[in-house]
Amino acid sequence: MPDAQTIYELRLACHKPGCPVCNLIQRAGARYIEGIFNESMLDPGVRQKLVDSQGFCYEHTWQSINLKLSDALGHAILYQDLVRDAMRKITENEANGSSQLVNALTPGSTCPACRVEDATLERVIDCMVPVLRDQDFIAEFKQSTGLCIPHLKRILPKLDGNRRGVVLLHQNDCLEKLRGELAEFIRKSDYRFRDEVIGNEGDSYKRAADMISGKHRLAEKKDFR
Ligand SMILES: [Zn+2]
Ligand SMILES: [Zn+2]
Repeated sequence: MPDAQTIYELRLACHKPGCPVCNLIQRAGARYIEGIFNESMLDPGVRQKLVDSQGFCYEHTWQSINLKLSDALGHAILYQDLVRDAMRKITENEANGSSQLVNALTPGSTCPACRVEDATLERVIDCMVPVLRDQDFIAEFKQSTGLCIPHLKRILPKLDGNRRGVVLLHQNDCLEKLRGELAEFIRKSDYRFRDEVIGNEGDSYKRAADMISGKHRLAEKKDFR
């Protein structure tokens, strides 16, 4: 069932660089992490869940540190729990075989921010499929820099012929533009053309990486406001 807030955020994301679906997912993950640190770190239940998952995954851990989604104290409180838990597991299992110790040191649940992002992906795709019939939305979608390949793969099976045509036409335009920028970047990297100023194509390889691999990273904290 499409929800108005998600559609509104999707429309806004179409005017920002990168895959609009990635944009909403990343913002949801960042907001969740910030909420955990701001409001829930003193809640023993929440902290126990974070111990079970051994905190966040690698990407969300460094996103939370690099984007300062918490102050240093919040991180210190979380890692005090996790360091204590690791010490306890080693103490309790060191007399046992390595496999038992390895099992004990393996997270009991997945990263909670990843779970939030997975749920957000489902919601965003469910909202986007019906709204791709709306000409106003299509006009905004065409302002976007296209879907990343993982999210293109995710939405295509849910589209009928018309909506599939709309998405693929725009996707091909975006890929073609990117291909041209990459070619220009490579051309200007040749020593014969090194005096030419690098323009918008300067970060084309990063945008191509986001397009091909998905998971467009938040570059700044303000992006998820
Ligand atoms: Zn994406
Ligand atoms: Zn994660």
